[in-house]
Amino acid sequence: MTRRKPPWFKNLCPAGVNPARLIARKCETCHEWVAVDTGGPIEEKYDPGILDGDDLVAAIILGIRFTRIQPISGTGLITLRTPCGERGISPNGKYLAEHRCFRAPISLKPYKPAKPATPQQWTDGPQLSEEDINRFEIAWRRPL
Ligand SMILES: [Zn+2]
Repeated sequence: MTRRKPPWFKNLCPAGVNPARLIARKCETCHEWVAVDTGGPIEEKYDPGILDGDDLVAAIILGIRFTRIQPISGTGLITLRTPCGERGISPNGKYLAEHRCFRAPISLKPYKPAKPATPQQWTDGPQLSEEDINRFEIAWRRPL
């Protein structure tokens, strides 16, 4: 029996702007839901579960390829970055593992997009009195 469509695919494989070019699809062979990277010359299929640092150890030991989910700061969007050796591997990173038909996925954790950063209000600027402003305006207008 196949699993339900992961609800987080709407964030991982958004219908609109989708820099990672991930498409939600059922695997042709095993009919499980996979996230397909359509950005490269060869389509890569990933299991829907998100790998964190601990899962990464399992993936490395099992020799399962993975790609890093790279959030685009200030947005809820992502791109994918294939780690090169140790570079790009971080215990705080989030990863997708390559899909292997009829094998249990390493992770079934849902994807939670980063919340877009809210711009900070400038509340702690200098406090100027009416007199300060008047003195500034007088100095500003005075010919040199
Ligand atoms: Zn499959």
